[in-house]
Amino acid sequence: MTETAAASPSTPTFIPTTPREVRQLGWSQVDVILVTGDTYLDSAYIGVAVIGRVLLAAGYRVGIIAQPDIHSGRDIGRLGQPALFWGVSGGCVDSLVANYTAAGKRRKSDDLTPGGVNDRRPDRALIAYSNLIRRFFKATRPIVLGGIEASLRRISHYDGWSNTVRRAVLFDAKADVLVYGMAEQTVLELAAKLAQGGDIRTVRGICYISREAPSAAAEFPGPDIELPSHERVARDDDQLTAMFRTFYENADPFTARRLYQRQDTRYIVQNPPQPPPTPEALDRIYELPYARDVHPFYGKDGPVKALETIRFSLTSHRGCYGECRFCAIAVHQGRHVISRSEDSLLREAAGFTHHPAFRGIIADVGGPTANMYGFECRRKTEKGACRDRGCLFPEPCTQLSVHHGRQIRLLGALRRLPGVRKVFVASGIRYDLILKDRAAGARYLETILRHHISGQLKIAPEHVVDPLLRLMGKPRREPSSRSIASRSF
Ligand code: SF4
Repeated sequence: MTETAAASPSTPTFIPTTPREVRQLGWSQVDVILVTGDTYLDSAYIGVAVIGRVLLAAGYRVGIIAQPDIHSGRDIGRLGQPALFWGVSGGCVDSLVANYTAAGKRRKSDDLTPGGVNDRRPDRALIAYSNLIRRFFKATRPIVLGGIEASLRRISHYDGWSNTVRRAVLFDAKADVLVYGMAEQTVLELAAKLAQGGDIRTVRGICYISREAPSAAAEFPGPDIELPSHERVARDDDQLTAMFRTFYENADPFTARRLYQRQDTRYIVQNPPQPPPTPEALDRIYELPYARDVHPFYGKDGPVKALETIRFSLTSHRGCYGECRFCAIAVHQGRHVISRSEDSLLREAAGFTHHPAFRGIIADVGGPTANMYGFECRRKTEKGACRDRGCLFPEPCTQLSVHHGRQIRLLGALRRLPGVRKVFVASGIRYDLILKDRAAGARYLETILRHHISGQLKIAPEHVVDPLLRLMGKPRREPSSRSIASRSF
């Protein structure tokens, strides 16, 4: 970092994506180039925008290249080489999920591509973009993988699309480092190490390739755990299940050990996760000056549908302890729910009212599960999540003091903001939490029904057949349904 972003005349409206914008900021080079499978929407709902804004706020010079052409160097070479690293993401969802239906049919439309035609994101985008960088920049700065596609493919994993157990994506992508989970703090630490020439292997929240099994490190609680090798898990389902269990049990920042797994003649090493962010840190991340729009360089190719839902929505919290068996959130965001302050959310919403496109409608106030806002299990915040039981399965844990009071107050304050006409809760709501909340559950449900539903209430658990609910890791239908019917609202 030879010139800092702080040297620029002011915070840019968008993170630069063209050489002209870089020059206008007075930069001769950027420190970090972020490459993504989605278009560039400058929004707190878009991971690449968040990471870019966090790096900019810390003084790094950042550029974004969205949906580069993988058949030429036209796009990937646009900003030259970064001084510190390339950050590569498949986009907001795994590229294969974005490109295909569950039945394997190619999706024609894409909400995160200008014009809505799904013709810009390659399959296995992490691999395609890493190869693209290597093709046009032979000896370049480290390639760092991130986002959900990287997170969920960080060790050996079952890949339904090819019906095979694939090795860690770092090997296939021939990249250098992988950051997993919500990676703001990890990326800042990594950037600092790369700028100062420090040892990146001490950074929490990363995976890297090693020729040897790692030796003991003072930074992490030991001893390390060796997972069954890729070769074994690829041919033995029981070994794959055992591997996943150990991996899952070592996902909590308070208790996780460093993991390593032999993949061929080398090892993939996974450092323990970063501690969850504080509410204050989360407030700062979400109050960064996002433009809430598509960068004009990409916007000229047509409207971006995703903007309709995320532009004026509020993320009230992060994380989920639902642990539904089909869901990636617990592995990506973690089981710790961190709630933003009411003041921060109200400031962000008040900011909407100055935006020329705002029509008085807040499309969502939520997170992975809307009604996990504002309370958490004390034991978890002090010692980490339990390994031997779920917070909500087979039924809500007695240690979880559910109370919807804070969310009711937040929603009321948002409704009363000048310039706000409607506030919707479009994120899913867990009805078992409402039933557990003897003090405020009924009041919360009434508040939601009276003021905050636009069309359909999105409720979970989403099924009523007990054997299926059990497979989904959701509570039984009975006695919950009896008790909801017997309550008076
Ligand atoms: S005590 Fe209960 S709510 Fe707390 S972490 Fe353990 S299972 Fe979850």
